[in-house]
Parts: sequence; structure tokens; C-alpha cells
Amino acid sequence: MNIDFENAECTACNNKSIDIRTEVLLPTEKSHQKGRIRKMYIFTCPKHLGTDTEQMLILAKVKAKKAASK
Ligand SMILES: [Zn+2]
Repeated sequence: MNIDFENAECTACNNKSIDIRTEVLLPTEKSHQKGRIRKMYIFTCPKHLGTDTEQMLILAKVKAKKAASK
């Protein structure tokens, strides 16, 4: 996977990200069957700096839906 860290967009919205953190996601039942632990990058803009990971993932889903409906 190629990530453009310099010009990354916030995971939760379309603002430019200023901070990146890696999160290890606990395996869900599905991914656990595959024996995989998922790691993902969470990009945050100033607006979402204080947002916790769970909320970021929810917002990311909303964002993906919006993008798909365009
Ligand atoms: Zn944001």
C-alpha cells in the first residue's frame, strides 16, 4: 500500500491531515478466522485531533459512503 503522507487527507473528513497514528484493530470475528490483525493509519486534521479511534472509524465509514454516492 502506498500512502502519501505529505498530502494525506484526514481519515474522517476532507481536511488536510496534520497528524498520523497507527492503530492496531482488534480482530473481528470474521478477520479472526483468517488469523489476521489489522493495522491501519489514522490521519487527523486539527478538527479531529481529539477524536478517539472508534469515532474516527465511524466517520471514515460515513466519508466512504459519501464518496461512493457521488
Ligand atoms: Zn478531520
